[in-house]
Amino acid sequence: MARYWICPNCGTRAIDDDGRDGLSHQQVGCAKCGFGFLFELLEDFYPPANAGFVACDKDTRVISAGKGVFELTGYGEGELLGKPLVDAFGLSGFSAEANPVSVVMEWGVRKLDQPLMLRHRSGREKAVRVDLFPAYDEDGGLLASLAPRND
Ligand SMILES: [Zn+2]
Repeated sequence: MARYWICPNCGTRAIDDDGRDGLSHQQVGCAKCGFGFLFELLEDFYPPANAGFVACDKDTRVISAGKGVFELTGYGEGELLGKPLVDAFGLSGFSAEANPVSVVMEWGVRKLDQPLMLRHRSGREKAVRVDLFPAYDEDGGLLASLAPRND
């Protein structure tokens, strides 16, 4: 069965579809940028070209901010580490009952193309498209893809 991976730094996709069980455990990092780990997806995903990726732990706290996040949000990785995803980026545009991050964590389902607002480091509100993916390894967590939205 094919397994799909994405680099939380540069968004490069990797597919392990040769059926050799166990090979995936040897995935040590991104073949393109050398980032230390890959995030497994249940299905393949083509990120927007200008997306920035943020990986979070099981408490939705930021553990890495990839290439493109600074350009989009003004925040460097050091300012984001350890903060809950929603607070770190001042995400809004959803009701408390329909917080897409909570839905992903609670139900283990992906939420794609969420039209949210993000607070840029400068204080400016920015329209973004957010794709959220639950982690499938035992550590849990999630991956967020943030991209500018022009509507
Ligand atoms: Zn990479």
